[in-house]
Amino acid sequence: MPDRISLIVPFYNEGEGVSFFSETIVPLLEQIPNTEWEIVCIDDGSSDDTLARLVLLSQTDKRFRIIELSRNFGKEAAMTAGLDAATGAAVVIIDADLQDPPQLINTMIEKWRDGAEVVLGRRVDRSSDSMAKRVTASWFYTLHNRLTKIQIPENVGDFRLMDRCVVEALKRLPEQQRFMKGLFAWVGFRTVTLDYVRASRSVGTSKFSGMALWNFALEGLTSFSTLPIRIWTYIGFVGAVLTLFYGLFIFIRTLIYGSSVPGYASVFFAVTFLGSLQIISIGMLGEYIGRIYIETKKRPIYITRRTYN
Ligand code: UDP
Ligand code: MG
Repeated sequence: MPDRISLIVPFYNEGEGVSFFSETIVPLLEQIPNTEWEIVCIDDGSSDDTLARLVLLSQTDKRFRIIELSRNFGKEAAMTAGLDAATGAAVVIIDADLQDPPQLINTMIEKWRDGAEVVLGRRVDRSSDSMAKRVTASWFYTLHNRLTKIQIPENVGDFRLMDRCVVEALKRLPEQQRFMKGLFAWVGFRTVTLDYVRASRSVGTSKFSGMALWNFALEGLTSFSTLPIRIWTYIGFVGAVLTLFYGLFIFIRTLIYGSSVPGYASVFFAVTFLGSLQIISIGMLGEYIGRIYIETKKRPIYITRRTYN
């Protein structure tokens, strides 16, 4: 009996890349011995002809299953939709632009058959990404892994194989704000890592701007660590102790030398500095309260308009 495997692919405005994707991936998958594939394509509310092209594919090739989301929910939600729909004994997630080498899927399957429950792809060379993206990514991983117990492996994207048991574990995580890299790491399981070189995009452009990546990083940090909110207690405490000593110093000085008008600078400094600390900490609180607010609404992570096949 061949193993049934699901390939999960999020598509957002990838119209010009659909045929490149299917022409590359199908022969590759067919070469992998003893496997039977379903290719779950999620159209994440594309505004171009991505959906039409995918539907056309699904009509001629029954292995293609298309999930049409009602609007753009973001890549994390699209992947969740794919994981929910996948029926395979293992799933492989890959980007539609095939920047991650699909040739690696064969090795991933081999590792899985050898007993790995998660097979990660790790980019050893990110020279196809801009310098700024690489540097900020590296800062993010360092900061995140210092702040939290959940260690996200560096330079590992969403390109990975997961056994059915891992998928079932992921499906039990109810959060709406899905920082998948963190969730993947959180569920654990026996993991094998494969190194590869990431190519640059051959068609279309990246869907993640600088601001989107910043929000993504903030999401990652706040969904796995409460340190950013707790740290203000300590800063406040240290500040209080320092200002107390300073107050005492001024009091004693006044007793000995009498009152003097100077002191404008120090008052001004104390007011503005502490004021800005307070604003930052209120903002930090707001960040978490906002997240609590969104979670309590218990909205679904995505809405499907229609499925094909
Ligand atoms: N994507 C998506 N929804 C979005 C943004 C992106 O489904 O809102 C998909 C996109 O079609 C691609 C994958 O996520 O298949 C990765 O996107 P991209 O290549 O733009 O990211 P990068 O490689 O630059 O990190
Ligand atoms: Mg890409």
